[in-house]
Amino acid sequence: MEPFQLTNEKYLIIKHWFEKYGLTCGFTTKNDGYSDKAYTSQNFGFHVGDQQVHVIQNRIALAQELQFPLENWVGAEQTHGVHIEYVQTKDRGKGAKEYDTSFAATDALFTDEKDLLLTMCYADCIPLYFFHPKSQHMAVAHAGWKGTVFEIAKNAIDAFREKGIHPQEVEVVIGPGICRSCYIVDNYVINKVNDCLGEIAPSVYNEIAKGQYQLDLKRCNQLILQKYGVLRDNIHTTEYCTSCHESLFFSHRRDDGKTGRLMSFIGLREEE
Ligand SMILES: [Zn+2]
Repeated sequence: MEPFQLTNEKYLIIKHWFEKYGLTCGFTTKNDGYSDKAYTSQNFGFHVGDQQVHVIQNRIALAQELQFPLENWVGAEQTHGVHIEYVQTKDRGKGAKEYDTSFAATDALFTDEKDLLLTMCYADCIPLYFFHPKSQHMAVAHAGWKGTVFEIAKNAIDAFREKGIHPQEVEVVIGPGICRSCYIVDNYVINKVNDCLGEIAPSVYNEIAKGQYQLDLKRCNQLILQKYGVLRDNIHTTEYCTSCHESLFFSHRRDDGKTGRLMSFIGLREEE
């Protein structure tokens, strides 16, 4: 089952979470925004060379669509690290309208508070979404190869554990990012994958030329999540690839590094 469904030109939602839990949770496309040039047209990243005014226009338009005011968004200065930050109501607006106020050196956000929209930016890296229905704790993470092999997925699961939540009760969705066919890496990266996954590592990559490998980052994260106690049946992975699906997404690899950023989001509104 494909967890993501295109709602309109602007974004996809995680349909079963919306229907079951009322979660506002999804991933943006590159379409129907205000940016131009390499960022045409819906870029959410402040740090990629696009005009700040366009990024803000894109954010305000999506905030209206999602009915989550921009003042309630939070964002992070993502550094391909593994730090997760616990977000509270007092943090509302950090990184929403400018990069400077973002959570520093943070690649995952975690909360159990309502009316906050956790956001992260991507162009090929893998978005990981976490939700615990009973306690309504949620998280979102940014996992490129570094975040993957240094196990940001484990840090996210640990954040749930620290709240007394067993990983077996956590649901996870692995979102749009670069697919195995599109993602070629070298021995340096593959050695890290081997260190991380041990004997099951070879199932996530294949050698296509001497020292050149196709690597499946989505599956790699899935296996890490299972290693730390998440149930296979509670992990749903998208088929969308940011590089293959050129009409929908920016791709750092495909676009030679000069491109916009897509955005993941997750939040629960306070019931009225
Ligand atoms: Zn692909």
